[in-house]
Amino acid sequence: MLNFYPGPSKLYPSIEKHLIDAYKCGILSKNHRSADFMELLEQTTHLLKTKLNIPSDYAVFYISSATEAWEIIAQSLIKESSLHLYNGSFGEKWFNYTKKLNPNTKQCQFGLNEILPTDKITPSELICITQNETSNGTSVNNITLKKIRDSYQSSLIAVDLTSSLGGVKFNFEDADIWFASVQKCMGLPSGLGILICSPNAVKRAYELNFNLHYNSIIANYEQMKVSQTTHTPNILGIYLLKNILTEIENITEIEKRTKNNLSYLQNELAKIPFLAFLTNNSQILSETVIALKIDENHIEKLKKHLLQNNIIIGNGYGEWKKNTIRIANFPQIEFSEFEQLIAILNRFEY
Ligand SMILES: *Cc1c(COP(=O)(O)O)cnc(C)c1O
Repeated sequence: MLNFYPGPSKLYPSIEKHLIDAYKCGILSKNHRSADFMELLEQTTHLLKTKLNIPSDYAVFYISSATEAWEIIAQSLIKESSLHLYNGSFGEKWFNYTKKLNPNTKQCQFGLNEILPTDKITPSELICITQNETSNGTSVNNITLKKIRDSYQSSLIAVDLTSSLGGVKFNFEDADIWFASVQKCMGLPSGLGILICSPNAVKRAYELNFNLHYNSIIANYEQMKVSQTTHTPNILGIYLLKNILTEIENITEIEKRTKNNLSYLQNELAKIPFLAFLTNNSQILSETVIALKIDENHIEKLKKHLLQNNIIIGNGYGEWKKNTIRIANFPQIEFSEFEQLIAILNRFEY
């Protein structure tokens, strides 16, 4: 079976071995206040920073999901309101979720073919951006993120990287809060989220002093100072993350492969008459999640054709559920798998 679902997605193949090793080495039955666990946490954070080029003074917290990151940010870093810029379902969910906790929260929606309109940003204590909109295959590039950083020096900036962290490079200095779940572009089993905070974000959390929740930034930070977590964490997930980080190349090398695979897919998909990119603006095309439009009358037949050929692709999402398919371009998927996908798509009788 070839799996191009954007999440949970194909796992790195070495996960099989690491699962068995995790059991055998005993780490899963070790107390999370033990020296062995603390060492695992320290090594994982060190590797994460080294492989993904995260500044050494940023804090890393191990949480359960990106959804939990939305909640932590809303409960730890917003006094009055945040501003959410989005063009798809995940950005909208983040906004709606935050609005429940902070009713003054504001939104700015933009179009599927539009570059994020930086001129529509109003000064705000926290600006929230979905860097890779998994629902529609669009993204916000590093140049735009830098522009926002330069224009709004006194705002905190939070960026959702759930379907791009691990596949492409980011300049972590250009925002304060970055987060992802690991079951998408990181090629790991679900149940672990990574929340990365700049020194400024941590400072702001202490100024606001919102510390009512077990998972507040302050509570997380206090525990991480002694290489521990606020609760018994996903030890297996952290163990697997550490081992995958040990194996993978630096993100600079991984990104080259991501871009190569994307240009191959872009060229080949453009030749297939029954598919079109959902966004018509190639400047905002996501590098890691491809969303393709297809006639509603043919979509079920296409999915059946792919399944018969042992291929799983992503369904459409939200507003685009019925007329799109999605293909993950994640680093754990080999180039030869993309070649097989293209060959089988070409055999579809439209
Ligand atoms: C999948 C996804 C989420 C939610 O991730 P969970 O692990 O289910 O919390 C949030 N944001 C984006 C952009 C996503 O793709």
